[in-house]
Amino acid sequence: MAVLEIQNLNKSFGGLTVTKNLSISVQEGQIFGVIGPNGAGKSTLFNQISGYIRPDSGSIVFNDKNIVGKPPYELCREGIGRTFQIVKPFGSKTVLYNVAVGAFARTNSRSEALQKAEEVVKLVGLESRKDLLAKNLTIVDRKRLEVAKALATQPKLILLDEVLAGLTPSEVDEAVELIRRIQQSGVTVLMIEHVMRAVMALCERVLVISYGEPIAEGTPQEVTQNPQVISAYLGDDHHA
Ligand code: ADP
Ligand code: MG
Repeated sequence: MAVLEIQNLNKSFGGLTVTKNLSISVQEGQIFGVIGPNGAGKSTLFNQISGYIRPDSGSIVFNDKNIVGKPPYELCREGIGRTFQIVKPFGSKTVLYNVAVGAFARTNSRSEALQKAEEVVKLVGLESRKDLLAKNLTIVDRKRLEVAKALATQPKLILLDEVLAGLTPSEVDEAVELIRRIQQSGVTVLMIEHVMRAVMALCERVLVISYGEPIAEGTPQEVTQNPQVISAYLGDDHHA
């Protein structure tokens, strides 16, 4: 069953086309990857799915409902959680407080929100740092916090925007395990990722975008052997 079904999505900013005739179908329980050069339109795709940017045309069906035009907070409550590529926690608040803010999307009860936050902080491996101020976290812990905030909203579908960027190889390994645990807890995962080792290990299917346009879709093995995909990456200079 498809949790997310996108059909013929289009978006331009002025003369710049950032999403061109994009269609994907993400099945329940899947880990689905989105890859492509910098500036290809990956984050903009997430912004459209999560309601931050309205597409020019096309449909985005989540849980059998067309969600185009719904605001982010409503989509969050309906079960679309997301991380942001540039993480911006409340720096002078604790880790636990930041995660509890996410939990308030689902409950008005302070004790329930804190309980959920405690549970999620444990899941992402931040338990021993839960009382630190967010501004004092290392890069990897900031990424963990970003994932925790999204998980605290109790998503059915989680959008992960480059959560492995800037991590050391062993931190990547841990994060791969975490993403696997998230999937095993029943959450469908849509992830933008440049760390190909993680994409190969985790993703059942991968969509490749270049200049806003889907150029390939398939298993990680299939798409990485596709000549069009290889040339999109090699011709990366004007994407910087
Ligand atoms: P990616 O995540 O694949 O690196 P983005 O989706 O962030 O790429 O950006 C795709 C293109 O759209 C870039 O050229 C970027 O500068 C442009 N862009 C993104 N958001 C906006 C916006 N709100 N207004 C104008 N241009 C934007
Ligand atoms: Mg991006």
